Amino acid sequence: MTETTGNRERANTGAAEPRGASGVTRTTCAVVGGGPGGAVLALLLARKGIDVTLLEAHPDFDREFRGDTLHPSVMEIMDQLGLADRLLQLRHSKVDSLTIQTDAGPFTPANLSRLKTKFPYITIMPQTDFLKFVVGEAEKYPSFRVVMGARVRELIEEDGVVRGVRYEGEGGMHEVRAALVVGADGRGSRVRRLAGIEPVKTSPPMDVLWFKLPREPKDAEGLVGRFGRGHIAVMLDRNDHWQAGYVIPKGTFPELRHEGIGELKRQFAGLIPEFADRLEHLTDWRKVSLLSVESSRCPTWHKPGLLLIGDAAHVMSPVGGVGINYAIQDAVAAANILAGPLRESQRRLVSVDEKHLAAVQRRRELPTRVIQAVQVQVQKNVLAPALGSSGPFSPPLLLKLLPRIPLLRDLPGRLIGYGVWPSRVR
Ligand SMILES: Cc1cc2nc3c(=O)[nH]c(=O)nc-3n(C[C@H](O)[C@H](O)[C@H](O)COP(=O)(O)OP(=O)(O)OC[C@H]3O[C@@H](n4cnc5c(N)ncnc54)[C@H](O)[C@@H]3O)c2cc1C
Repeated sequence: MTETTGNRERANTGAAEPRGASGVTRTTCAVVGGGPGGAVLALLLARKGIDVTLLEAHPDFDREFRGDTLHPSVMEIMDQLGLADRLLQLRHSKVDSLTIQTDAGPFTPANLSRLKTKFPYITIMPQTDFLKFVVGEAEKYPSFRVVMGARVRELIEEDGVVRGVRYEGEGGMHEVRAALVVGADGRGSRVRRLAGIEPVKTSPPMDVLWFKLPREPKDAEGLVGRFGRGHIAVMLDRNDHWQAGYVIPKGTFPELRHEGIGELKRQFAGLIPEFADRLEHLTDWRKVSLLSVESSRCPTWHKPGLLLIGDAAHVMSPVGGVGINYAIQDAVAAANILAGPLRESQRRLVSVDEKHLAAVQRRRELPTRVIQAVQVQVQKNVLAPALGSSGPFSPPLLLKLLPRIPLLRDLPGRLIGYGVWPSRVR
């Protein structure tokens, strides 16, 4: 049975078959992974008239929390596509500065409100809503097709060139042949592994425990950060609840778990007393998920017929919350560079020359390296000392002085808002 809505299909329906031999479809670009990077790339290519098939392993976009922040660079990209106003009609909140509460009082290391942009703030919107919006826009183009519930299992390789993928749905295995496969399948990328590309990892000095806490009408909106006595907490406003992040020194979770959920509640209540009454909700460890924080970068993002973007190419540390921002900017750079070659491939039925894939890496590697270097400095000089001390937190002198130096005070906000050398839609 085939269940197709517009150009959306379910992998378990066999609906992928009509365009080729049994179980085989053809497209120009197969994008694996419907996260922020893959979804935006698919939209950008579809609007340029390039046949694109987006394969997403999950049956829908409702997913566990993985960040809800859209930075000014992303909103500008949406604006360049004429979509920002409609996106902002969806439920969201705005944060224009990052303020950390410490024992010595509030401290604001980054302020975005002075950035010269229509969007001098971080838009906080559930990632699910953002992804549905982007894919909904892509579905307006006839050259776009999305297959939900399509779990890519294998690469099709011939003569050392990737020519497509095999994916599994409930109905069995299906094949998509393509002039280019883009692996946008996130930090644990299967495509990357199948391609034999090994990321170089670094291990930031922390892990994060995430859990939900109820929201009350009197609560402030946006973002709450608190540093003190060896602990860091971040609260993110998710409209109907708070997503609480409790940062712990790397590798210490087993010890905390052994002490019991009561110990987590005690430590958290000590850090953010105003939320102490909501912690009764946290009844056992099943309500807490551990994010083992990592940061990595692939030495090469491509091989013949295949490109990696977003987390598949580089996992960013959570410092500054730039992962979504960077995945989307990779997508924009890839669409800018590859649209012409893909159109040519579409016409001549040939693979994209690898030199164009290398150009995408060249365009995006430097911005990634620079931000990762800044993140390492913040981890070393701010987070590690904050997690290692049992006394009150005091920001390093340079960070305290930064907001008072006119030439430098907007640098953190600019780095968080745009990263380095931001991509613009061509
Ligand atoms: C708990 C948590 C909190 C975070 N908070 C923030 C934040 O506040 N701000 C921020 O900017 N970043 C945040 N991040 C990082 C951010 O989520 C990523 O950097 C960003 O989502 C990367 O986008 P992506 O498109 O490259 O990959 P992903 O968003 O990981 O998307 C990959 C997609 O590929 C799909 N997929 C995987 N394997 C396959 C397969 N074999 N076949 C088909 N599909 C597949 C997945 O289902 C997924 O939809 C957070 C991450 C985590 C884990």
